[in-house]
Amino acid sequence: MRYISTRGRAPVLEFDDVLLAGLARDGGLYLPETWPQFDAADIRALRGLSYAELATRIIAPFVGDSIDEADLASILADSYRDFGHDAVAPLTQIDANLWVMELFHGPTLAFKDFAMQFLGRAFDHVLRRRGERVTIVGATSGDTGSAAFEACRYCDAIDTFFLFPHGRVSEVQRRQMTTVHSGNIHAVAVEGTFDDCQDLVKAMFNDTTFRDELHLSAANSINWARIMAQIVYYFHAAVSLGSPDRPISFSVPTGNFGNVYAGYAARAMGLPIGQFIVGSNVNDILPRFFDSGSLEMAGVTPTISPSMDIQVSSNFERFLFELYGRDGTVTGAAVTEFRETGRLSVGENLWQKAQETFSGHRMDDSETMAMIGDIKSSCGYLLDPHSAIAVAAARAKATDPATPVVALATAHPAKFPDAVNEASGISPALPLALADLHERPERMTVLPNDLARVEAFVRDHVSMAGAA
Ligand SMILES: *Cc1c(COP(=O)(O)O)cnc(C)c1O
Repeated sequence: MRYISTRGRAPVLEFDDVLLAGLARDGGLYLPETWPQFDAADIRALRGLSYAELATRIIAPFVGDSIDEADLASILADSYRDFGHDAVAPLTQIDANLWVMELFHGPTLAFKDFAMQFLGRAFDHVLRRRGERVTIVGATSGDTGSAAFEACRYCDAIDTFFLFPHGRVSEVQRRQMTTVHSGNIHAVAVEGTFDDCQDLVKAMFNDTTFRDELHLSAANSINWARIMAQIVYYFHAAVSLGSPDRPISFSVPTGNFGNVYAGYAARAMGLPIGQFIVGSNVNDILPRFFDSGSLEMAGVTPTISPSMDIQVSSNFERFLFELYGRDGTVTGAAVTEFRETGRLSVGENLWQKAQETFSGHRMDDSETMAMIGDIKSSCGYLLDPHSAIAVAAARAKATDPATPVVALATAHPAKFPDAVNEASGISPALPLALADLHERPERMTVLPNDLARVEAFVRDHVSMAGAA
């Protein structure tokens, strides 16, 4: 499988190079040149497979010759072995034709573990084979950083740095990052917003000297391998609920547009999907886009669903590329216009096309709290704020009562205990593996929102072996 950039000016690469590169050299994001196709018989043949077996079937065509299939199968088996539920991504029915897919049974209690556990192992596999090492730098709104730290703490060939907005992640999220003590793991609190962190990371990648000197690599959802690993659970859920013999819809709480884009990819591969419902908090640039055809940047407001406090959804570029008929020049120009002016209009036709697939729904914090309380009292099920937005969006925007809707529960309620407690009166307990989190010593560095300072910190803290 060959990969192309959304901006059309980067070298075409095989999977292992895309994995290590993250962002393309022209500033774009990599996508497969064509979507592997699964027809109805292929989808039926997925029934009854374990999660890791199903993952191997879905991922093998994307990986091509970069990782041989037996190695891929064992990497995937390892990735999901320690999840806290044997089903890995269990479905719980909470209403007529409404299911919750629990994506929070991984080591850091958020869906990011699905991609990251695979990504860390895939990096390690490829780097060991090549005798190379890399420096991963990323921005996190809370959950990606800890998932990457957990996945990379034992990978000697990788130094991992994550920037997060100082004071704007929950205490549990912060502790999950600052309590991973390993010489190759660095938690950096930036005095700014998540978008500032993301801009710093992009700037480091665009600084070619720095990028080459440190062998920079990305574990953010701009890394294609993250999206790829997330495609799996759309197939897994749909097959459990009767795919390919009926369509299934998905409601996805959305920030960087990576998770829902993985669903879009599943559809492009042949999975019959009805609607995609995009849930957001008051940082609602995406619902506003689907309502108007125009992307308009606004300020970021902190909410009780901090992993979605984002205005510049980096993976949206992948969707724009598809919308613009895979024309990299047009996509690059559109993204540049958006970055420069804070707005982008796709025109009537493309807006209609986007609306055929997606609809958006926005929830403020008090509506989110009300939904947590409502679901707790009506069916005894406890949602975290992000997952509550998915459930509410499903209820508000599902159009066909006969089509099952799967709402993605992206975090365990114990990851956001204050909001959950206020909404439901229940203090969700951390699973046993994390029970002593609040007693573990923390380690982090606070830095200003300043590229030179952040680059200096990274340079000073990579392992000496990295200066290859
Ligand atoms: C990252 C995250 C999201 C947003 O996912 P995207 O792929 O960025 O759209 C939603 N919920 C939780 C709990 C997250 O950690």
